[in-house]
Amino acid sequence: MAVCSCRILVGVEPTEHLQASLTAAIALANVFGAPARHGRPAAPPDDEAIRGVLRLTTNRTVPIELHEYETGARQLYDALSLLPDVDGAVALVNDLLRRTQATPQLTREPGQLWHLHFAAPGVSAATGWLAEFATAVAMLLGSHDSERLRRCAASRCDDLFLDSTRNRTQRFCSTACQNRTKVAAHRARTA
Ligand SMILES: [Zn+2]
Repeated sequence: MAVCSCRILVGVEPTEHLQASLTAAIALANVFGAPARHGRPAAPPDDEAIRGVLRLTTNRTVPIELHEYETGARQLYDALSLLPDVDGAVALVNDLLRRTQATPQLTREPGQLWHLHFAAPGVSAATGWLAEFATAVAMLLGSHDSERLRRCAASRCDDLFLDSTRNRTQRFCSTACQNRTKVAAHRARTA
């Protein structure tokens, strides 16, 4: 039987779990899909990068099959990159939902609440996570929150992120990219 792998198990709304999976989905998409990140060409994905992504949504140690993530992760990046073209993104995400056989299933550990997961019984860990991430992105596409998806405005950074500011003004994926851009602008002014 599948063991619940959620970071947060008790006293939390189901949507919060999906929110963590959405954060992880975007992180995984960036690891495989962004040509440049934070000012330099993206490093080839490795096991540690995948572990870092999964830690965003689970406390459990998960076996890593790096190559099994590649196609689905790139598809997530391509889908998210299409926004605000929601129709185009939907076609890619629906395809990934089908290919990963995303299947809502209630599971639980003893003493815990029933919890909704999307890995079909019998699929590999990687396929199960891709099903979970595709579902989280599908929920995003079905909401006005899809308008919050941004590409980092810094040079040589193609990371995608969700603008979390109230007035929708976030331009950079990270303070590192923000600072890098400020320094470059200052240098340009004083050159
Ligand atoms: Zn950036």
